[in-house]
Amino acid sequence: MSSIWERAQKVMPGGVNSPVRSFAKVGMEPIFVESAHGAYLTDERGQKYLDYICSWGPLIFGHSYEPVIEKVAECLRKGTSFGLATALEVEFAELLTRAVPSLEMVRLVNSGTEATMSAIRLARGFTRREKIIKFAGCYHGHSNELLVATGSGALTFGSPESAGVTSHAVQDTLVLPYNDRKAVEKVFAEYGEDIAAIIVEPIAANMGLVSPQEGFLAGLRRVTKEYKALLIFDEVITGFRVAYGGAQELYGVIPDLTCLGKIIGGGFPIGAYGGRKEIMEMISPLGPVYQAGTLSGNPVAVTAGMETIRLLKQGHVYDQLQSKGDYLRNGLRQIAKSKGVKLQITGVGSLTGVFFSEEIVDCYEKVLKASKELYQNFFRANLKKGILLPPSPYETIFISTAHTQEDLDGTLEVWNGVLNTWK
Ligand SMILES: *Cc1c(COP(=O)(O)O)cnc(C)c1O
Repeated sequence: MSSIWERAQKVMPGGVNSPVRSFAKVGMEPIFVESAHGAYLTDERGQKYLDYICSWGPLIFGHSYEPVIEKVAECLRKGTSFGLATALEVEFAELLTRAVPSLEMVRLVNSGTEATMSAIRLARGFTRREKIIKFAGCYHGHSNELLVATGSGALTFGSPESAGVTSHAVQDTLVLPYNDRKAVEKVFAEYGEDIAAIIVEPIAANMGLVSPQEGFLAGLRRVTKEYKALLIFDEVITGFRVAYGGAQELYGVIPDLTCLGKIIGGGFPIGAYGGRKEIMEMISPLGPVYQAGTLSGNPVAVTAGMETIRLLKQGHVYDQLQSKGDYLRNGLRQIAKSKGVKLQITGVGSLTGVFFSEEIVDCYEKVLKASKELYQNFFRANLKKGILLPPSPYETIFISTAHTQEDLDGTLEVWNGVLNTWK
């Protein structure tokens, strides 16, 4: 009998349904997950791992979170899709618009990719301009016009410029270095009247973790306002992750449009984009910008998302995640220092980046200068000890509320051992 991995490769490209699930770059077979609870997942061989991937962001409360599961189970009995409007969606839209400062109105879609793609279309329809600015190393899903100088899996697999994307599709996409305000101002001085929007990850979490420098986001806000272009925050990762109101709440910079995904589906497929009323009313059926979806506002995903967000409002989730994140980062920093390992550790709250580099990492270029090989060694050494990190230096390490103090201490112990034998 052939293994799952052998069977997988015969029927799915690379044996996976999304390239980031492939462990090819670390020379391994992918993990085939059998089940997951809390901070741990178990693979088909019965191997258990402490999970720092957390489904790449959605699972802020960890796996199989009981309160969410219960609500979903109730909801399933009422029907799984209607293709018609529900009160549930209204309630969810109310919840989202109350939570996220820039949202006056919102449209639900089925993935982060759809959210960013639709927000770009809307920005172009609203401004009647064609050019957009994105930043190198930011990943905004896999739509044609945004699949250039991108992060995440595309960068891991050496194709930040994808085959199949025509030069025509990206001719109006201007790519600038992250954290480079001067470059943005220069481009606006030249093309300002033609630029529909800037799209940015307010915290770049798809090239490892790169924080915005002081004034970067405010600078984007200023220049877009001046030239009547829109500012789009892609908060698919950061939304409800770094604060209840996302990075825009954390940094006090309010964009015109916001894209959401991941956490707002509570582990089910979802996306959303929204913003000012006058912009959102350009969308069909009210306005001329067309965008639709058979499963959009799916009751199962909305139920899971709604319960997740409701629970996020309670307690001190963000304080807790911040102190857990700090604990892990400070712990690793101390270990690296004591062993003389050159490490840059970045992070905001529950998001952490680890770069094997001597230089501070604040943009794509510096990310690429960090040692990929050392990160991969680090990954493999961790996996041997039952700790699952992202298998690529261009992804973010996620923690959830399910990661206990004991889990973090265990992790630091492993890191201490791993870096002990580093040289
Ligand atoms: C994951 C991600 C996307 C794409 O979302 P999908 O649901 O995978 O299509 C877009 N933007 C950012 C910042 C993301 O992290």
